[in-house]
Amino acid sequence: MQETKPKKAVVLLSGGLDSAVTLAYARREGYAAYALTFDYGQRHRIEIERARKVAAGLSAEEHKIMAVDLRAFGGSALTDAIPVPEAREEIGAAGIPATYVPARNTIFLSLGLAWAEVLGAEAIFIGANAVDYSGYPDCRPEYFEAFEKLAVLATRDGVQAGWKLHIQAPLLHLSKAEIIRLGKDLRVDFSLTSSCYNPSPEGKSCGVCESCRLREKGFAEAGETDPARGLRLSF
Ligand code: ZN
Repeated sequence: MQETKPKKAVVLLSGGLDSAVTLAYARREGYAAYALTFDYGQRHRIEIERARKVAAGLSAEEHKIMAVDLRAFGGSALTDAIPVPEAREEIGAAGIPATYVPARNTIFLSLGLAWAEVLGAEAIFIGANAVDYSGYPDCRPEYFEAFEKLAVLATRDGVQAGWKLHIQAPLLHLSKAEIIRLGKDLRVDFSLTSSCYNPSPEGKSCGVCESCRLREKGFAEAGETDPARGLRLSF
């Protein structure tokens, strides 16, 4: 399909809004995208289906869905029988939120690293954000820098062939409204994305969890209407 051999990137794709924008961004930067979605036993399983549609819609070269059931460990509102908190104010602005999943980004980036080495990819793209999710330790720039160092030390191609892997987190310092504007520029179909931490079995957003609130606020600040909002009314 491609005229010249494109540079490759693994893109971590959850089915949420941020990772869809990240995939579109990687494509615009000229990367052949190898989308990787984890079925980790999260409550929002609807995201897996959305991820399939997003990957196809944004012409990912390949899309793998990998089962890594983090419910075996639990320890998070997303993988355990811990209630999903509502907006941040209710759990206190400081501290690490209950939706933190222990070592999630390290687990996901490690699996992404394995695929990236096999592909000879230059980068892993991740839709991490340090503005709205400032409580997550594995969403910090110094964490991603450390992981880039690890990638060189930990791989055959890093040690023998001078292979370097860049962790690209293009949304890291953007507000939700800025992410939505970027996604609009990149023609992301937001109606395919799901952000809710606690949707109904049919995929209806709860409208009250932190992720729903952030999404709603972001669309309002961007002066846009959330196309998924209209959809959920029709469920
Ligand atoms: Zn929700």
